[in-house]
This record gives sequence, structure tokens and C-alpha cells, in this order.
Amino acid sequence: SELLTITNLKKQYGNKIIFDQVNAKVEQGEVIAILGPSGAGKSTFLRAINLLEAPTAGEVIFEGNELTNLAEKELDILREKIGMVFQSFNLFPNLTVIENIKLAPMKVKNLSDAEATQLAEKLLNQVGLGDKQSVYPVSLSGGQQQRVAIARALAMSPDVLLFDEPTSALDPEMVGEVLNVMKQLAEDGMTMLVVTHEMGFAREVADTVWFMADGGIQEISEPEMFFSAP
Ligand code: ADP
Ligand code: ADP
Repeated sequence: SELLTITNLKKQYGNKIIFDQVNAKVEQGEVIAILGPSGAGKSTFLRAINLLEAPTAGEVIFEGNELTNLAEKELDILREKIGMVFQSFNLFPNLTVIENIKLAPMKVKNLSDAEATQLAEKLLNQVGLGDKQSVYPVSLSGGQQQRVAIARALAMSPDVLLFDEPTSALDPEMVGEVLNVMKQLAEDGMTMLVVTHEMGFAREVADTVWFMADGGIQEISEPEMFFSAP
């Protein structure tokens, strides 16, 4: 069933139009790779979906709710269901790995300390970092930090995860471990929108490619079609 509908979405900075008339739909469990040249507006588009950037016009309908019409309080509740993973990890440096993961579920979902610990341990095992609970982010590699960031996003039980170039800041040897976690999530049925330059991921893991360029989504197709010549 349909999770997200984007209708006539537009974003403008000053008088510069980044994208306009963007229409797209996301099904439950769908994995979408958002491709396109640097500067095409992919990151801005992703942030417009969860209203981190207010769209200039158009609608974002998530689980039947038009986000652009909601009061801040209602929007915050729905946003909890939209997880985000950034290029630069954005972990809290003064918190240990497990504290990073426990923070939001304890604050926002009112989990007890014991419940949050149990959840965080499960998620750390899932991303292959069960032995890193008590260390600080600075002692981890970039790939490990990004896997913690994914676990942290998962701790809110999101219905969709937005990834903004999750492997672009990583040394090449770390890319695979992060992509493998994302591939496993895809196989588990997580709905994901992934801005990426990893063509292998787009080709092998994504159900759908959105190609963004020249102010909009120019092409929506299956990877097999997208990557076939000409
Ligand atoms: P690489 O970046 O490794 O050269 P590609 O040659 O597949 O990878 O892609 C180069 C650029 O062209 C990328 O921005 C990609 O999104 C885009 N691209 C690839 N295939 C198509 C296609 N069939 N239609 C439109 N754009 C495409
Ligand atoms: P991509 O993710 O495809 O590389 P971005 O969404 O980062 O593209 O950027 C698209 C365009 O929007 C770029 O020309 C960028 O300079 C511009 N842009 C992004 N954020 C802002 C901002 N806060 N103010 C003005 N222009 C911006």
C-alpha cells in the first residue's frame, strides 16, 4: 500500500528554483535510489520530504496525512516515523554508542532505561556492533559510526528511512559494511529512500530509481531499465 505521496513539490531559495512540479509515490517496503548529478537538488528534496526544509509549494502526504498542513506538534509526532541518516553521521560525541541509541526512545517514546537498553543492544547486534556499546563515537571508524547512526534511527521504529549519501564520507574500505546493513534492512522490508552515488546498490538493492536533474525527477524506472543502454 502507499506510504508516501509527493504532489507538485517545489523548492525555491530566493528566486532560484531547485526543483518544481515533482510528483512521486512510495509504496510500503519499496526501496528507492535517488540518483542524479551533484547539485541537482537531491539532498534538498529528501529534506523537503520530512519538512526539515519547508517546501515552497506542493504536498507531502505521509500515511494519509498532509504534512505541509499540520501544526508543529502533530508534525513532530509523524516525523518520528520518518528516520533520517546523514552523510556526516551526526552522533552525539559526548555520549557512548549505546547512550546515542537510547536517547530518543527514552525521551520521545518514554521507554524505561531497561527497555531502551534492551532495544539498543538488539539494534547494535543487528548492525554488527554488539561489542561497541560503551565506547565513544570518536573511537569508531566512519563505517562503524554510520552503522550506529542507522541503529539510532531504527530505535524510533520508523516506517520509512531517508538516507542522504550515507557512504559518501567514508573511506572506500568502509562502504561495503554500511551498504550491507542497508541491504539487510531492505530485505527485512524497510521502506527506504536513498540518495546515493553507489550504482551497485541502486542496481542490485533498489526496487526503483528516481533520476533527478534539471529541476525535477526526470525518470522513474526499475533499475534494470534505468541501467540498460542507451
Ligand atoms: P558512474 O558515475 O560510475 O560513471 P554511471 O555511468 O552509471 O556511473 O552514471 C553516471 C551518471 O549518469 C550518474 O549521475 C547516473 O545517475 C546517470 N545515469 C546513469 N544511467 C542513466 C540513464 N539510463 N538515464 C539517465 N541518467 C543515467
Ligand atoms: P544535491 O544533493 O543533488 O547535490 P543539493 O540539494 O545539495 O543538491 O543542492 C541543490 C542546489 O540547492 C544547489 O545549487 C545548492 O547550492 C542549493 N542550496 C542548497 N541548500 C541551499 C540553501 N540553504 N540556500 C540556498 N541554496 C541552497
